[in-house]
Amino acid sequence: MSALRVLSVASEVFPLIKTGGLADVAGALPGALAPLGIAVTTLLPGYPPVMDRLPGAKVVHRWQDLFGGPAALVSAEATGLALLVLDAPHLYRRSGGPYQDAHGADWTDNAQRFAALAFVAAELGIGLLGDTAPDILHAHDWQAALAPVYLHFARADQPRRPATIVTIHNIAFQGQFPAGLLETLRLPPEAFTIEGVEYYGQIGFLKGGLALADRITTVSQTYAIEIQGSEMGMGLEGLLHHRSEVLSGILNGVDTEIWNPATDRHLVAQYDAQRLDDRQGNRAALQKRFGLAADAPGPLVAVVSRLSWQKGMDLLLAALPRLIADGGQLALLGAGDAALQAEFAAAATRHPGQVAAVFGYDEALSHLVQGGADMILVPSRFEPCGLTQLYGLRYGAVPLVARVGGLADTIIDANDAALAAGVATGFQFAPVAVHALEAALTRAARVYRDKATWRALQQRGMASDVSWRRPARQYAELYRSLAERR
Ligand code: ADP
Repeated sequence: MSALRVLSVASEVFPLIKTGGLADVAGALPGALAPLGIAVTTLLPGYPPVMDRLPGAKVVHRWQDLFGGPAALVSAEATGLALLVLDAPHLYRRSGGPYQDAHGADWTDNAQRFAALAFVAAELGIGLLGDTAPDILHAHDWQAALAPVYLHFARADQPRRPATIVTIHNIAFQGQFPAGLLETLRLPPEAFTIEGVEYYGQIGFLKGGLALADRITTVSQTYAIEIQGSEMGMGLEGLLHHRSEVLSGILNGVDTEIWNPATDRHLVAQYDAQRLDDRQGNRAALQKRFGLAADAPGPLVAVVSRLSWQKGMDLLLAALPRLIADGGQLALLGAGDAALQAEFAAAATRHPGQVAAVFGYDEALSHLVQGGADMILVPSRFEPCGLTQLYGLRYGAVPLVARVGGLADTIIDANDAALAAGVATGFQFAPVAVHALEAALTRAARVYRDKATWRALQQRGMASDVSWRRPARQYAELYRSLAERR
């Protein structure tokens, strides 16, 4: 059987460029699919940190004017991935983040920046750029979501088109831009309808992709249901409900080589489920790094997160007195909202030795946190899949999570029945409110005091399969079913 060819289109790909879980997925899925006979090429923008890491890259296509300036498509192998990088200096070569400048303001030309990415994806999709056309075009999030739109409208004359999938990693980010940009984005007037990109009078990138993709996936089954309702659909629930027959959920996995406590060089002490005592070295190092006291009686609770409303960080602030009263400690590694940051800094000053925060993005430290903390806390208001709780499972940092989205699908709550049956892997709380979080923290602190039960929780978590194996099989099945239909 010849390999099925997939063009994966993403605005961030680990380890080249990352702001969140999308990068981890885009970086790890190709490797997990290769043994299943799926050949993935990944298209991403040529941000400076990406262009710096492309040895032996070769130009496969050039444009004199791609959405406002000259551009080149370069092909390269890097970090085990087959890459196509869109090198458009006027769009991507600038300091700052992939979506925002150094002050946290969205780049004012984000519409052009990501329309260009999707436009090129569509050109590749129909084989216009020399490369053999892929069987499947898999677009991730709003930044890539116009690809099926371009295929549908601008290239309607092309006989051979790939099947298209749009994956929603977070429906909170939709990419909405003024209607006046239609022509600039090389979209015909007929694209601006309810069946196309029109969305409350604006151009909706994600909306257009969801309307026109052959299939829609999101990153957990629970989230696939949640986004069909008004509470979590963020305006797209009607469309998603309408398209529910082509919508499904496939959980994310984690890269089990990068995230392996037995070999992780970011840890002070490597360990596995049979050598959990060795974890103590990491716990002590973590306390020292964060300036936490060494002798607290309760669990060392950790957070590794973007600091935002979505992540429920305000709930955690409100529940801190309970955590401390239970003898626990908090180590927070986070970046984002300045007001939240200031509040955590103030909490750390109020509770020296018990609450500590490191602000910034620190991949290496995030490993030590998972390898040393007793618990990893994820109190999100909504969470499409969530990766931090999966790392927690793998590292024996018992997850305490809100019962939403992928958190609900990956953690088995340690209620009495689950403990008695020996299946629990963590703690869930619902509704997503302070009193429920407090109750779960107290419940966890109680179980923590029972060392044998706690160890069993850790070991079961570590035995859970959080790898890409199962999700990769599900994507492969989806790709094959779509390819067969064509
Ligand atoms: P989201 O994509 O919404 O941010 P996920 O849980 O899916 O949430 O993925 C977050 C990823 O980013 C995880 O790999 C997590 O370890 C990482 N991460 C988040 N904040 C930080 C930080 N301050 N330092 C290091 N890694 C972080």
